[in-house]
Amino acid sequence: MKPTVFIDRKVPNEVEAYIAEHCNIEKWEQSTHIPRAMLHEKLANASGLLTAGMKIDADLLERAPKLKIVSSISVGYNHFDLAAMKERGVIGTNTPHVLNDTVADLALALMLGTARRVAELDRYVKDGQWKSGDGLKLFGVDVHHAKLGIIGMGRIGEAVARRAKFGFDMDVAYFNRSRKPEAEEKLGVRFSQLNDLLAASDFVVMLAPLTAETTKLIGHNEFKMMKPSSIFINISRGQTVDELALIEALQSGTIAAAGLDVYEKEPIDADHPFLQMANVLTLPHIGSATTQTRFDMAMLAAQNLVSGLSGQTPTCMVDELK
Ligand code: NAP
Repeated sequence: MKPTVFIDRKVPNEVEAYIAEHCNIEKWEQSTHIPRAMLHEKLANASGLLTAGMKIDADLLERAPKLKIVSSISVGYNHFDLAAMKERGVIGTNTPHVLNDTVADLALALMLGTARRVAELDRYVKDGQWKSGDGLKLFGVDVHHAKLGIIGMGRIGEAVARRAKFGFDMDVAYFNRSRKPEAEEKLGVRFSQLNDLLAASDFVVMLAPLTAETTKLIGHNEFKMMKPSSIFINISRGQTVDELALIEALQSGTIAAAGLDVYEKEPIDADHPFLQMANVLTLPHIGSATTQTRFDMAMLAAQNLVSGLSGQTPTCMVDELK
């Protein structure tokens, strides 16, 4: 008999058809979150769960006694309570690699967008304020040949470094939990301690995963180390940064600007200070959101799900659950 899986979002038809070859599917396809009571009902009989950001904790696992695998359509898996999953022998998988270039492209878009004030000046033109030449007040700063500091030199960090080094002739340094000699050689980047990287960089890009160690890794002290002209980009997870400290750093001129794809609370509230700040470029967590990449992620997540349920070890099992 085919195992039952619950899919908590709309996935491409081709992906659903692939899963249906191997599993009975229960699904929730509305844009709102499934009501908790209904979720519990669906999970009572499910051996597999395909999701993206659903919090997987002891309470949820308690209500899903048959659950063998949670396959997430994301590379970040900070929504997994790894200890609770391990205790119950529930496998967790993610979708690395297939999104590297797409997320790296967005990191560059945030760098270029903040440096050249793209969104702000788009509004300036559309509001009918462009009445004369391009005076001083419209000037930005250069991305090419500037100093870039990457925090978290993993798969996406390397893709950002490659673009920065070979596309924009940037001087690239990185801080990482472990050194990456291969990346240093291949990409011509150098390792730097975090404080040195913060002090020297024109652009700081946060790309470390959210863990206990990286929670609020960047706060008041770190912003103070940065140059007043520096631009901070966060494309990892909002909680890696102390958001109040970031707001204060931007308001006080401790740093010049920020480009953000992620926030402490998502979606952000309508009265969030970022929304009033011309020097902050705000995107709605769309790092991997292209049609092709989201398809590839969903298909990879489906393959992980099916292989986990058929007793094989999925290729993208998260390290801590191996
Ligand atoms: P990855 O390959 O695992 O890279 C993460 C890097 O961070 C690794 O090199 C790791 O070092 C390093 N790291 C871990 N803990 C650290 C710490 N405490 N201090 C310094 N460095 C640390 O992951 P990835 O695929 O590049 O993805 C990175 C993150 O991007 C994801 O976890 C996710 O949160 C985020 N992301 C966001 C979006 C979006 O839509 N905005 C999309 C995709 C991914 P070691 O190699 O030494 O462990």
